[in-house]
Amino acid sequence: MTCEEVRISLGAHALGALDPEEAAEIDHHLATCEACGAELLELEESARSWARCRSATWSWWPALRARCSTGC
Ligand SMILES: [Zn+2]
Repeated sequence: MTCEEVRISLGAHALGALDPEEAAEIDHHLATCEACGAELLELEESARSWARCRSATWSWWPALRARCSTGC
């Protein structure tokens, strides 16, 4: 996986929303790529904010936004 591919799925990974197979591929990349690891930490932080449904501006992931609006 390239960094670009990882970044695309990283948001979902931060939320544990990926297939186990895909998550494993990303974990494998993260084990060797510091930059993507740092990105994941930031996304996890953002994901926690999202879990509180205080930000409705994440247009990059409509599925999450939909879940947020129905779940809260
Ligand atoms: Zn990377």
